[in-house]
Amino acid sequence: MKLTYQPFELLLKHTFTIAKFSRTSTPVMLIKVEHEGHTGYGEASMVPYMGESFQSATDFLSKVDATQFKYPFNFEEIIGYMDSLAPGNPAIKAGIDIALHDLDGKLQNKPCWQLLGSDPAKMPVTSFTIGIDTPEVIIQKVKENPNCKIIKVKLGRDSDKDLIKTIRSVTDLPLFVDANQGWTDLQQSLDMTHWLHGQGVLLIEQPMLKTDIDSNAWLTERSPITIIGDESVQRLPDVVKAKGVYHGINIKLMKSAGMYEAHQMILKAKELGLKLMIGCMSETSCTTLAAAALAPQCDWADLDGPFLTSNNPYKMPEFNDGKWILNNAPGLGIKH
Ligand code: MG
Repeated sequence: MKLTYQPFELLLKHTFTIAKFSRTSTPVMLIKVEHEGHTGYGEASMVPYMGESFQSATDFLSKVDATQFKYPFNFEEIIGYMDSLAPGNPAIKAGIDIALHDLDGKLQNKPCWQLLGSDPAKMPVTSFTIGIDTPEVIIQKVKENPNCKIIKVKLGRDSDKDLIKTIRSVTDLPLFVDANQGWTDLQQSLDMTHWLHGQGVLLIEQPMLKTDIDSNAWLTERSPITIIGDESVQRLPDVVKAKGVYHGINIKLMKSAGMYEAHQMILKAKELGLKLMIGCMSETSCTTLAAAALAPQCDWADLDGPFLTSNNPYKMPEFNDGKWILNNAPGLGIKH
């Protein structure tokens, strides 16, 4: 088994602003694993607020002994091995896990979605995220994406209602709202959920600080709209903690340390009666296809990574009627 990697700066089409910061690109580590003439591709997308970087990824990779990854792969042992090397680092662990899943599919000559038990016919439509911006740019972004069936809006500022009204002036598509922990006042938040409900909003992500469990639980109990935990839910042990605090959770491969653990999180959430959203960071087609392989097991998808970037190194996966199309190619089905 040979593991190689290459740093890549993934450029965003628009400066991305959420409640706490803005940026124009994302550092990505592209991973390759090779075995018996087959190559698996993975990606670690390291959005700055998650704390990983080219340096931390390189440090982690220098500890990895690729001869530990023996085929047939035991993904539970593989994640255990990676966790034993260093805590944290979920994105670079995900990059390796995704590459090994792609390779696994190629060695077995089966698509990853099939190996993970997904039904392509159950693919949910994916939302398209719009960052906080001027009304002119927001209107332009909505019009740029006629293929989109659900719009996701980043809230958490004083002008939240104006932002929604601007979007409503150009489209009546259903909306997802992401507060990114930006809401603080309980009563105001509850009033906002009712107002948003009237505006055709289907769900709200992470209304309050991830550490403020009581406030998030209070709001979830009273909100007319589904409340989803995102920043508060990273890996498998967090799923149990979300029960009673949120109606559902947002799983992202860059938080869950990859596809194996994301799948375990899906199974656990279903067992607990939690709703499921599968989301993304700024990512290339590689992680989008990896998440799409699991998306049919979730209620909602927010996998718009490739639409928001301008230098995706891979071909855009097939997208139709607001949904990613899973193909029958072995592995993830990445096209170069
Ligand atoms: Mg979110």
